[in-house]
Amino acid sequence: MRTAIFGGTFNPVHNGHRNAVKKVLEAVELDRVIVLPDRIPPHKEVKELASEKDRLAMLELTFSQMPETEISDYELRREGKSYSVITLRHFHETLPEDKLFFIMGSDMLLTFSKWYCWQEILSLCTLICVSRCDEDTQKLEPCAQDLRQCGGEVIIVSAEPFEVSSTQLREMIRKNEDCSCYLDENVVKYITDNNLYGRGI
Ligand code: ATP
Repeated sequence: MRTAIFGGTFNPVHNGHRNAVKKVLEAVELDRVIVLPDRIPPHKEVKELASEKDRLAMLELTFSQMPETEISDYELRREGKSYSVITLRHFHETLPEDKLFFIMGSDMLLTFSKWYCWQEILSLCTLICVSRCDEDTQKLEPCAQDLRQCGGEVIIVSAEPFEVSSTQLREMIRKNEDCSCYLDENVVKYITDNNLYGRGI
């Protein structure tokens, strides 16, 4: 199987995430995308982090209409920091027949050479990158070229960026602004019903 991993904090998951997966599925032949929320160690201060249960629930709601996706709690169950290389080693061992891909936004590709064990990550999977903003788009191909020279496989998916971040949305929710074009409608309801991120929408 051709299996892609898509990790993140997803606090909350938004339409930029869903759009990225949709564009990747249109551009790259994949059998499934495993979406993994990461575990934040208790000592690390993350502002307004929703609980694991809430982040998982919002992911289920957002990706429920995309049959190629499945949500995994693997990183939530594992102790310690969620290093991507550890996750990739895990899937490499448990899915030995699969070809692995790793989906990321452009902010992640542009800082990839600072990641823990990035060379090993390149040996374990093909990177797939989706641009988050026009400014990043032009930097992606040279960055991919550098990683290819290190032996990596990198696919840049050309798609119009969907500019939004979870940070921006937490701020908008707190100010009671309308985020309905950035979030799945069921996620909007979930946030309101559970009074996440400060105020209801
Ligand atoms: P925060 O603002 O809290 O840092 P975020 O919006 O960057 O959050 P993450 O959960 O950290 O979201 O992102 C998970 C993955 O999704 C990362 O690879 C990130 O680059 C990618 N991503 C996030 N937003 C977008 C977007 N709008 N378009 C494409 N990729 C995105």
